[in-house]
Amino acid sequence: MPHDGIIYLDHAATSWPKPPEVFAAVKRALGPAGGNPHRSAHRLALEAARLVLEARSAVASFLGAGDARDLLFVPGCTFGLNMALKGLLGAGDRVVISSVEHNAVMRPLAVLEAHGVEVVRMPVDGAGRVDLDAAEAIIAAGKTKAVVCQHASNVTGAIQPVADLADIAHEHGAVLVVDGAQAAGHLRVDVRALGADVYVASGHKGLLGPQGVGVVYLAPGLELPELVQGGSGGESVSPAMPDARPDRYEAGTPPVPAIAGLAAGVGVLARELDAIMAHERRLVQRLVDGLLEVPGIAVLGPAPGEERAPVVSIIHESVEPDRIAYELDSRFGIAVRSGLHCAPAAHASAGTLETGAVRFSVGRGVTEDDVERAVEAVREVCQA
Ligand code: PMP
Repeated sequence: MPHDGIIYLDHAATSWPKPPEVFAAVKRALGPAGGNPHRSAHRLALEAARLVLEARSAVASFLGAGDARDLLFVPGCTFGLNMALKGLLGAGDRVVISSVEHNAVMRPLAVLEAHGVEVVRMPVDGAGRVDLDAAEAIIAAGKTKAVVCQHASNVTGAIQPVADLADIAHEHGAVLVVDGAQAAGHLRVDVRALGADVYVASGHKGLLGPQGVGVVYLAPGLELPELVQGGSGGESVSPAMPDARPDRYEAGTPPVPAIAGLAAGVGVLARELDAIMAHERRLVQRLVDGLLEVPGIAVLGPAPGEERAPVVSIIHESVEPDRIAYELDSRFGIAVRSGLHCAPAAHASAGTLETGAVRFSVGRGVTEDDVERAVEAVREVCQA
């Protein structure tokens, strides 16, 4: 069923609509838990502190972190990736990345590169997946400090072999940083089973929370310099941030309403993830099959039937992506995203840097009927 007259197929940008549980949790965080956590000792502040504590445990357990203190709340995935990359890498260090990374990785690395960090890219195959043999040779070819790879692509939906990359990285003395923006909430993520040293995700995409919070899993024993310093509610006499997690990495007042909403979103996922994943798989299959039946359309990334995150990007031989997205919205009320999706590297690998693509991304709440309508609308827009 369209919500508010909109068929929303832009879940990779942000999930919408949020579950009612998320609204309720945000409301509570603005009401009876509306104090400033870890600061004052009155009931509103204590409720807020309890809320953040419980949220941390819920999200940590959902993502497979053994200790909730290893799960940090940050302003977003982009912030978390900046924190990890700028904390880990300095002049003279070597970092190996996939050649399909998002600008949330590429842009901080461009700054680091200008400060003397060597950035080396691993190639991907035709489906957009990292080639592990090539990866191993490249990682072994120098003293690699870190390997950075997304878990799933926001352009092709390709799922990367991150557990294998973790093994290779560790064999060669490097840490693995994973950008889980498009995986968390769409794939089963167990950060310890994957072997990730750092795993970063957005709260507002597959995890169903509001915008304004992201999460960083930092493996036990791996310490980074914090990116931001400020009040932590305790040990206030010292000019330095406290050493203990999570305080060291969470200076300033946390976004309690966003954290509350995120925990509620994760609560929904903890109950429904298998069903959501099966549903998304069906929707993706139908989208891929249906769109490929439209003359002149090609689908980027994994072949039909192969596993992918719930993202399907297309190009048409003559109708431009922006035109397709505009017509879908204005004539059919269908929300998709055209352009480069903040990931020129991924488009360069897919051969679509010049044109961009139209991305359909599904999630909880999208129906088979929505997808059928989208395919039919694309057919109409693209017929001569
Ligand atoms: N990495 C990938 C693969 C993404 O798709 C996104 C969001 N488009 C990000 C990182 C950044 O996430 P956020 O904008 O929530 O910080």
